[in-house]
Amino acid sequence: MSALVSDELLARSSQRSERLRLLSHSTEPALKAVVLTCADHRVDPAHVLGLEPNDAVVLRNPGGRVTGDVLRSLVVLSAVAAVEQLSGGVEIVVMHHTDCGMSRLGGPGHLGLVADYLGTTVEAGADVPVIDPRMSLRHDVAALRALVGATPVTGLLFDVESGRVHRLE
Ligand SMILES: [Zn+2]
Repeated sequence: MSALVSDELLARSSQRSERLRLLSHSTEPALKAVVLTCADHRVDPAHVLGLEPNDAVVLRNPGGRVTGDVLRSLVVLSAVAAVEQLSGGVEIVVMHHTDCGMSRLGGPGHLGLVADYLGTTVEAGADVPVIDPRMSLRHDVAALRALVGATPVTGLLFDVESGRVHRLE
C-alpha cells in the first residue's frame, strides 16, 4: 500500500507545532477579517494574501461564492463572536481568481448543477456568472453588501498567472 498523503501532512505539522503552541489562543482573529475565497489549490490566502496563523477567519468553497452555506456560516460566526463578546468590526474580503475551475461549468450541461450550488433557479442561474471572475465577484460582493448592513465588504481579484491581487470592489 502506498503512503497516505495524511502521513506526509502529519510529518509536516510536527515541524510546526512548537511555533503554533506559542501563538495567541484568542478566538478573535488579529486582522478582524473574514476571507471568502476559492477552494482551488493555487488560491490559499495564507500564500496569496500572506495570512499568518491567527490572522483571519477563512471560508473556502468552489469559486469562493456567496452561497447559502456561506451565509449560514457567517450567521454562526457572528453568534460565536457575540458569545465570546468580541469587539466586532470585521471586514469581509471576497477573493475570486482567474482560471477558476468554476468557469468550466458555464455551459448548458451544468446549468442545473451551478444553479443548485448557488441557490438560484435554473432560469435565473443563467444570469449568475461563473465564466468571468470579475462578474462573479461584482455579483457576490453586491449580494453580500445587501445582506450585512454596515459590515465592510471588499472584492479582490487574484490573477493566478501574474500572482497579483487587485481590489475590484
Ligand atoms: Zn477557483
